[in-house]
Amino acid sequence: MVCPQIKERLLPVDTIGRPGRQSAKRYIVIHESDCTLPGADALAHARYFAGLCRAGVTALSYHYVVDATQVIRLIPDKECSCHAGDGMGLHSANLRGISVLLCVNSDADPAETRKRAAGLVAHLLIEHSLGLDAVHQHYDFGGKDCPHSLRLGGAWGRFIDQCEAAYTEQSERRRRCLESFACPWYKVQICASRDHDEALKLACELREKGYTAYVVADIDYGRLLGESPS
Ligand SMILES: [Zn+2]
Repeated sequence: MVCPQIKERLLPVDTIGRPGRQSAKRYIVIHESDCTLPGADALAHARYFAGLCRAGVTALSYHYVVDATQVIRLIPDKECSCHAGDGMGLHSANLRGISVLLCVNSDADPAETRKRAAGLVAHLLIEHSLGLDAVHQHYDFGGKDCPHSLRLGGAWGRFIDQCEAAYTEQSERRRRCLESFACPWYKVQICASRDHDEALKLACELREKGYTAYVVADIDYGRLLGESPS
C-alpha cells in the first residue's frame, strides 16, 4: 500500500482541542470511532471535531481521521492532540503520539479503511524515523477498549502485518527514488533574479539568519526561461 493522499482540514488553532504544544513524536496511536451510523465518515468527523474546538467544552481531537475513501489531517504532526486522556506529561500519548482515528461507519468497507490506515501508518513511521514497535492501540495508554473491532480475534495482528508490508513497500520506493538521483549535491533554490544586486542583498539577508547562501550566475536557467544570454 502506497501512502494514501492526505487532505487537510486543520482544526482551529489555540483551541481546547488544538492547543499547539509541540514535541518530537514517539508513538503512532490507533483509535476507532464509536459511531457506526451511515455517513459518519472522515469528513463528518472532521466537522464534528472542529465544532468541539469552537464550542470549547470538550478537549477531543486527532491528527488524522481515516475512512474507506480518504485520509484527512486535522492537526500537524509536530503538535499535540487530545485523544488518549493521559494528560500532557513528557511521555504521554497526548503529547508524544500521532493519533489516527479509523471510522467505522456502517455504509463503508472496513477492510478499505484498514488498508488506507496501514498505508498512512507506514508513511508516518518513515517520516518520523520510527519502527513498527511505535504503533500502539489506545488501550496501551489507560486501558480503554479502543480500537474496539481491531482488538477482536486476530485483527490487530493482521493490521500490524498490513502496516509492515506497507512500510517495506514505501521504504523500497523511497530508496529507489533517492538512487535515481545521480548528482550528489542537493540545492535548495529560493529565487532567480536578473538583478545581481538584488540577488546579493537576498544572500546577505539569508547569511544574517544563519543560512549558507551563494550567488551563482546561471546562464542555463536564463535559457530555460527563454531569454538569450547577454
Ligand atoms: Zn481511542
